[in-house]
Amino acid sequence: MIIVLKPNTRNEDRQTLLEAISKRGLKPVEFAGTERSTIHVLGDVNESVAESMKSFECVENVLRILKPYKLASKEHQSQKTVVKVGDVSFGNGEFTIIAGPCSVESEAQVMESAHMLKKLGIKIMRASAFKPRTSPYDFQGMGIEGLKLLKKVREETGMLVETEIMDVRDVKIAAECVDILRVGARNMQNFDLLKELGKIDKPVILKRGMSATINEFIMAAEYILLHGNRRVILCERGIRTFETAYRNTLDLGAVAVLRTLTHLPIIVDPSHAAGKRDLVPPLCKAAAAVGADGLLVEAHPHPDQALSDGAQSLTPEQLAKLMEELRPLCIAVGRRLA
Ligand code: PEP
Ligand code: MN
Repeated sequence: MIIVLKPNTRNEDRQTLLEAISKRGLKPVEFAGTERSTIHVLGDVNESVAESMKSFECVENVLRILKPYKLASKEHQSQKTVVKVGDVSFGNGEFTIIAGPCSVESEAQVMESAHMLKKLGIKIMRASAFKPRTSPYDFQGMGIEGLKLLKKVREETGMLVETEIMDVRDVKIAAECVDILRVGARNMQNFDLLKELGKIDKPVILKRGMSATINEFIMAAEYILLHGNRRVILCERGIRTFETAYRNTLDLGAVAVLRTLTHLPIIVDPSHAAGKRDLVPPLCKAAAAVGADGLLVEAHPHPDQALSDGAQSLTPEQLAKLMEELRPLCIAVGRRLA
């Protein structure tokens, strides 16, 4: 529910209203506007509560948000959220590229990757130190040591770095080492993790679970927003369908739908949907065309030596070609490649 206050509402009247909201077990969040201030009320607001708010002298109007998510909804905020990190942004009309290897494998590998990306004008490198592997016998990631290598990359090359977070206990150190934290598909509904990420001052990329509906996806984002972190970027990465020709089905329709429902930036990871590197460039272009705010794409200086997801990682040559092809396409769809 959004309560619109009358202009020049006195402080004590606003306080009385805030107390009345809290007394009902609801959470008031205040927004000071240039002309009108509003109070967004979170919790289970029924018709009679909404009605009772109208009786306060300082209340001009009461609007109910009917969606199950509130803070993520366009009803709550009509203008797009812009998530700024370093000198790049998501949601401001740029088409922002995050690229890099699936995993942190060694110091030499992340440094070489960073230089490969820098040469192409890419400002954010992805690389996971913690790896959610289907098989416990596969490479499990370098863990904290990997985070420290990412910090070193950031210090030595000036690249922004992005990595996956799987465990609440690692949030603090990860937030110290990298610029953006990512919640992977398998953890989209790890609610304790989402709550913890709501308390940090770093942007969070939230990936869609491979069997999650769009509604469940936005509800997961709502957890992070509700706990105080408003810098959330949604990432479509493919869902499970009957199709076996590729790893997952990239649901670009979800990007179009999300655009109508939420103000949050939306990026696309075509790599984990495709599973094969030759399918990745056309899906990247389709993501730009459908209106995504950027890409999360796997690329490795030597994909044949990668410890994870080598088959879907672009070669340096493929990545360079893709960047060239994206440039005019972005202009055609009214975006600037960043
Ligand atoms: C990844 O980005 O490396 C990854 C594990 O992706 P997802 O969580 O989408 O499977
Ligand atoms: Mn991967």
